[in-house]
Amino acid sequence: MSFSESVVSQAWNRSHGKCGCPHLAHDHSRNPCIRPVSWEARGREVNGGWQARSTSGKYLDTPSDCEILCWACYSATPHQAQ
Ligand SMILES: [Zn+2]
Ligand SMILES: [Zn+2]
Repeated sequence: MSFSESVVSQAWNRSHGKCGCPHLAHDHSRNPCIRPVSWEARGREVNGGWQARSTSGKYLDTPSDCEILCWACYSATPHQAQ
């Protein structure tokens, strides 16, 4: 299961090329993570790499359920049971 491409691209446009991670337990602590990410590096463990993650864990077809997370944040976030 994953998001449709249109949902990911809408969430991506909303993120303005930055990690949108709001998780308080990460190194960026209370501040939203704003690490720059690049579209071409999707799904890769490289500088600027990132992944789309479902906030609800259900892969709803809505951009608001889709988080754009830099690789560090994605790795630090518990993966949802699928
Ligand atoms: Zn991040
Ligand atoms: Zn984070």
